[in-house]
Amino acid sequence: MDRKVLVIKRLKGCGRMKRDVSIGIDIGGTKIVAGLVTVEGEVLYKQIVPTATEGKEQIIFQLQQMINDLLKEAHKLRLPTLKGIGIGTAGQIDFKNGIVRSGTSNIKDWNDIPLKHEIQRLFGFPTWIDNDVNVVALAESYLGAAKGYNNVVFLTLGTGIGGAVIQEGKLLHGEWGGAAELGHMSVDRNGPACNCGYKGCLEAYASGTGIANQMKRMLRKNPELYDGQIENITARDVFQWASEGKQFAKSLLDKAIDALAYGTVNIIHAFNPSLLVIGGGIIDQHSWIITDLQNRVRSLGISSLVQSVSFKKAAFGDEAGVIGAAYQSFLYSQNVQKEGASNEG
Ligand SMILES: [Zn+2]
Repeated sequence: MDRKVLVIKRLKGCGRMKRDVSIGIDIGGTKIVAGLVTVEGEVLYKQIVPTATEGKEQIIFQLQQMINDLLKEAHKLRLPTLKGIGIGTAGQIDFKNGIVRSGTSNIKDWNDIPLKHEIQRLFGFPTWIDNDVNVVALAESYLGAAKGYNNVVFLTLGTGIGGAVIQEGKLLHGEWGGAAELGHMSVDRNGPACNCGYKGCLEAYASGTGIANQMKRMLRKNPELYDGQIENITARDVFQWASEGKQFAKSLLDKAIDALAYGTVNIIHAFNPSLLVIGGGIIDQHSWIITDLQNRVRSLGISSLVQSVSFKKAAFGDEAGVIGAAYQSFLYSQNVQKEGASNEG
């Protein structure tokens, strides 16, 4: 099996530290990131490997190898006993029982896995597992853009659209952990089919995949607009054409942001947040969307609810997943209270 470690980061001079440290693991469709993370959100050491494509057993084997490496590194760095292991992964995660219920089409065979118990059995550390956007919300909430806010909604715009909700200072999990699938909220019952099986989902309009698919549909209907390979079009092309002033691309993005605005108003009506944090690959490239979205949202919906919401860009980039995953240990092992964490740094 491919065990190529893509990036290793080591922070020098962190020996004999007194701060709490835990292992954070972010399992995505293309890569797994695992790191030693301090309670302040500093990543002392990390490894990145391409996610195994053979199925769940291989992925669990990869996790095992990475955790072994991290434990060796923690020993070398003379870190204090680790608080635990926190995992964030795409898919519908049974947070209460530590089970990956149904995964994502991006990770083969990623369902019905009692991952929490498997990792606890192998390593003996208390282990937590949650949805990848939920753990990003923890990182942003305790250390990033949402620090000091108690009612926050998170949206990540990337290949798909992810969501998480912090209500009264706590992650909203629902009955078992499946709450806040905000990307699969429909904004049009006659809208395009989404790969989740529903229709007109926000993700089908405003995610990278949704934008690309809509453009492909538009160009198949209007072949005179484009003479290249329609199948190869990506969201990046659509943004590029819009920036060059091509009207068909501008109007498609306008429709995507409009769908996002209606979806956001629905979310605000449901959760009454004081802050909306938006991140993800699309926002990293095109942060102007946040201001545009905010202006549209304020002209729609119930004024007392929509007018008072602040909009912010996510503070963490790539490492949000690994930091937030680790943060579960600090939070749920009850050695760190929300207040304590918020007041630090
Ligand atoms: Zn959907």
